Amino acid sequence: MVVLMRVLFATSEVVPYSKTGGLADVAGALPRALAAQGHELLVVSPWYRSLRAEPAPLWIGDVDAPFAGGFEPVGVGTLEADGVRYAFVGHRDFQREDLYGYSDDVRRFSRFTRAVPQVAARLGFLPDLVHANDWHTGYLPLVLAHGWHLPAGFPGLPSIFTVHNVQYQGTSGLEEALWWLRLPGAFAQEYMNHFGSANAMQAALGYTWAVTTVSPTYAAEIQRPEYGYGLDGTFRHVRDKLVGILNGLDTEAWNPGGDTYLPRPYDADDPGGKTEAKRALTQRLELDGSTPVLGVVSRLADQKGIDLLEAAGDRLVRQGWSVALLGSGDALLERALRDLAARHPGRVGAVIGFDEALAHLIYAGSDALAVPSRFEPCGLSQMIAMRYGTVPIARDTGGLHDTVEHQQTGYLFEHANPEGLLWATGLAMEAYGSDRWAAMMRRAMRRDFSWERSAQRYAELYEGVVASAR
Ligand code: ADP
Repeated sequence: MVVLMRVLFATSEVVPYSKTGGLADVAGALPRALAAQGHELLVVSPWYRSLRAEPAPLWIGDVDAPFAGGFEPVGVGTLEADGVRYAFVGHRDFQREDLYGYSDDVRRFSRFTRAVPQVAARLGFLPDLVHANDWHTGYLPLVLAHGWHLPAGFPGLPSIFTVHNVQYQGTSGLEEALWWLRLPGAFAQEYMNHFGSANAMQAALGYTWAVTTVSPTYAAEIQRPEYGYGLDGTFRHVRDKLVGILNGLDTEAWNPGGDTYLPRPYDADDPGGKTEAKRALTQRLELDGSTPVLGVVSRLADQKGIDLLEAAGDRLVRQGWSVALLGSGDALLERALRDLAARHPGRVGAVIGFDEALAHLIYAGSDALAVPSRFEPCGLSQMIAMRYGTVPIARDTGGLHDTVEHQQTGYLFEHANPEGLLWATGLAMEAYGSDRWAAMMRRAMRRDFSWERSAQRYAELYEGVVASAR
């Protein structure tokens, strides 16, 4: 029997209103999938200057939130979509050009964290459970457990915490964090203290009832020093309440059968449209369309291993690939990719920037997609590629390990260096064009990455936590 639950979901970004990465995709899709199963969801997020809401949220006034030794007002906006209620927290701290990247980010999100319960209470929403996400809301489990300056019903509420990326932890001075959050000094000796600094993510790990991360393999990896970014010891300490739940994919937004960015839609039974997409892609990037095409759609950051791909670039061309690159981020990598393209006219095309339409064309029009990540909590691009019949060639880590099956739906390589990547692209090149390759494409396209199953896992976890809290 399904127990229906009221869940307060706190997140620093949420699709379609704000986005810098995968967290926003999860915060957009998971509450909708849970609401579709009958649960009641309130998603609370900051009201950024760049908020994309048409019409704008309905402004319902101010609430006073505990902050920095007193109480300070924040604004509350609200809207409803797809059965989910959203509340946006307004304050001039969030009226900036970007979502993050400021020296006072921990202060800004401490304010947000303290506002979340007040805003929910203002809307008359008393949850059974609070779901916090990443460091931005990492102090929420501590604040709930501690109980001071909370609206009625909130002290002692159970929480779960999801780790989307361990690399970002929200560190600051201990004194300041205590002051912003209005916590007594004794807490400085507890989980928020990470070798003398305040650490929002570690605080969450200590005080929450259950910790999830976005793939089972990443859940195991972050307990090791190579992946734990200094928190591996804490993850080992809490491993009994740590579980990996794979993210789903928005299978409506990513559907080759109804993709308006493509010259012609296609599916596993009628893959002809994929050939047309390849023609359109190779024309657009002026690539040789007679060779297999290796696509890349990625943030250009150290995590993503694009430097390995760049170092392997000349040899990839010699192996017989044409390469279609789309990405933005690190300026040095942007230049290196442009240089690579300039060295190989007709064989390497690089577009620097964020381009939704071209991303769709690369997923559809490439034969294989390279994902050489050093670490990957879950990763969406390999799932998108598979759905589009494009064979992922990915590093054997995190969510890539859990979603790509070596030689069945793609290729996995272990060593994070150019030789590792070239080994896997070599295997793919040998299989390309064979019946085995065609079978792999079909198998990949038929994999089920929809959100329903993951949402069900979260619902079961909520139920378990709420039951044990009672
Ligand atoms: P992460 O969240 O770590 O960046 P994911 O693989 O989980 O990685 O998600 C990345 C998402 O962003 C995918 O939907 C991908 O298509 C998209 N994306 C990344 N870079 C670009 C770009 N330059 N242009 C368009 N879309 C991009």
